[in-house]
Amino acid sequence: MMQSFRDITPIRRPNRRECKHYYSYLSTLREDFNYRCGYCNDHDGLRIRSFTIDHFVPQNPEGFAHNIKPNYYYNLVYACRYCNAEKRNKWPTKDVNVSHDGTIGFIDPTEEDYTKLFRRSKSGKIIPSEDSNLAKYIRKELKLWLPIHALMWKLERMNNLIDQIENELRTTNDQVLKAQLEQLYFLYLKKYRNIQKSVFIENE
Ligand SMILES: [Zn+2]
Repeated sequence: MMQSFRDITPIRRPNRRECKHYYSYLSTLREDFNYRCGYCNDHDGLRIRSFTIDHFVPQNPEGFAHNIKPNYYYNLVYACRYCNAEKRNKWPTKDVNVSHDGTIGFIDPTEEDYTKLFRRSKSGKIIPSEDSNLAKYIRKELKLWLPIHALMWKLERMNNLIDQIENELRTTNDQVLKAQLEQLYFLYLKKYRNIQKSVFIENE
C-alpha cells in the first residue's frame, strides 16, 4: 500500500528580516522546514547526519547567470547533505524564471506540487507518483532512491512507536499488559539499534 510522501508541506515565514549572510537564517529556516530536508523529508532529530542550506536556484548554475542574492530567504531550502550534494549547480531549464518544463527541472519544496510528486512504498522508499517524468527526473538527480532515505523513514517510525510503548508502560497498572509491552519495547529497541547501526555503516 502506498503512503503519502510527507505529512506537511513546509512554508517559509513571510517578511523574514534580511540578514547579510544566508547562514544566519539556519535556525528560522530549520523551523520553517519542520526540522526536515525539503527534498527527501528526512528528519534532522536523529543527529545521524548534518543538515545545511541549499539554494533552490543555485548560486552558480550551469550555463547562465542570474541576480538572485545569495541571502534571499525565499530561495533557500533546509536540506540534508545528501540532497544538497546531489543538487549542486543543476538548473536544466537554464532560465531563472522556469524551474521545470514538466520533464526536467525542479519544484520548490515549499510547494504542494512537490509533496504530490512522490509516494512512499510500504518500506518507506520514495516512489514517483503515477507516471510523472518530472518526479522521475528529480528522484534520479537527487538520488532519492538512496537506501538512507527509507532507513531514516523507518527509524523515525520506530522511534515514535518506542515512545508510545514507553508512555503506555508508564501509565498502565495492568501487570500482564506491562509484561507484554516490555517484550515489545525491547524487541523494537533492538530493531531500532540494528537499523541505526546500518545507517552508520553506510556513512563510513
Ligand atoms: Zn535530503
